[in-house]
Amino acid sequence: MTGVVDVVVIGGGQSGLAAGYHLRRLGLDFAVLDGRPAPGAAWQRTWDSLHLFSPAAYSSLPGRLMPPQPGETYPDADHVVTYLTDYEQRYELPVHRPVRVAGVHRDGAFLRVETDSGAWLARAVISATGTWSRPFVPAVPGRTTFRGTQLHTVEYGSPRDVAGRKVIVVGGGNSGAQIAADLAYDTDLTWVTLREPRYLADDIDGRALFDHATARRRALDAGRTDTGGVASLGDIVAVPPVRAARDAGLLKAQPMFDRITPGGAVWADGTSAEADAIIWCTGFRPALSHLAPLGLRGPRGRIPTAGTQAIGEPRLHLLGYGDWTGPASATLIGVGRPAREAARQIADLLR
Ligand code: FAD
Repeated sequence: MTGVVDVVVIGGGQSGLAAGYHLRRLGLDFAVLDGRPAPGAAWQRTWDSLHLFSPAAYSSLPGRLMPPQPGETYPDADHVVTYLTDYEQRYELPVHRPVRVAGVHRDGAFLRVETDSGAWLARAVISATGTWSRPFVPAVPGRTTFRGTQLHTVEYGSPRDVAGRKVIVVGGGNSGAQIAADLAYDTDLTWVTLREPRYLADDIDGRALFDHATARRRALDAGRTDTGGVASLGDIVAVPPVRAARDAGLLKAQPMFDRITPGGAVWADGTSAEADAIIWCTGFRPALSHLAPLGLRGPRGRIPTAGTQAIGEPRLHLLGYGDWTGPASATLIGVGRPAREAARQIADLLR
């Protein structure tokens, strides 16, 4: 046995670190197991030009404000990696890496966490494994016949990857819009979205989204009518590069195509577009396969929760992932509150 602790936190990204911060404050004995070799989690894997959609102060984990990045209102991904690296050192969070969790099993009074470097026994587990390791690509007819390059958001780096080529970008969310804007100048771009792109007002950034999520949480807490998630405001934050490409008339979205051919895509009305590359900005799914032995899986690949606590296993909490584990919990600033709740509930359970 590698170790016996009160709590194992699986995942050392922002969610796992926020959980660690609160577990430490409550005096619990815990270990954070992270599959990546270095700090920074998903932020190590973004495309080069990605910037946050909120200013630094609105992208902070509990206890420590993110310092501003000199010369940038909206910090870039490297700045987030530096911040997370500093955060786990500052709070001396016991992060073990690279340690990949293969499965979580019930083992009497414990949950047994099997990893690629031994097993841990824990009285409770917080799963904070994010979504970035599970990119989603829709099953479009003909996809496997395509002769060109197919990339998912998580594999895209910069316009250099596809410069001068015919590129189809699929997806009407933030990543689709930002990558389309990135490619609008140096490629022959076709941008495809399921529905007409829904931009948030130009003066709305992550600050307003967070305020909206907070108002929603308060309404739900008070038993009032659900005000709707941030998706009710729109799909695309008009960050400066997106705004610039849109205003230059370079972001004209086409509806979703019908099928893919070896040389491109074809729409239901018979029109077609040639392509050398297709970039799928079609989202992610929660990375939950390590929890399969617990048999908790519910609809849509999720595990039913009340707040962060798994309904079928009270010793398990899920953190991050999306609004279903707490409003805005998959954002830097939003994860602090559900992390605090999860740690508090675990402390109560273990007492
Ligand atoms: P992750 O950062 O994915 O960390 C999970 C960690 O768990 C990783 O290190 C992973 O390797 C590890 N792991 C996974 N499985 C295992 C396993 N079995 N065993 C051990 N370790 C494992 N949020 C904002 O606040 N502001 C923004 O501007 C913003 N922009 C975004 C832009 C894009 C394009 C996307 C996709 C997301 C953005 N987000 C933004 C959302 C959000 O901040 C991220 O999705 C965030 O990475 C979620 O953090 P996390 O800690 O939950 O997961």
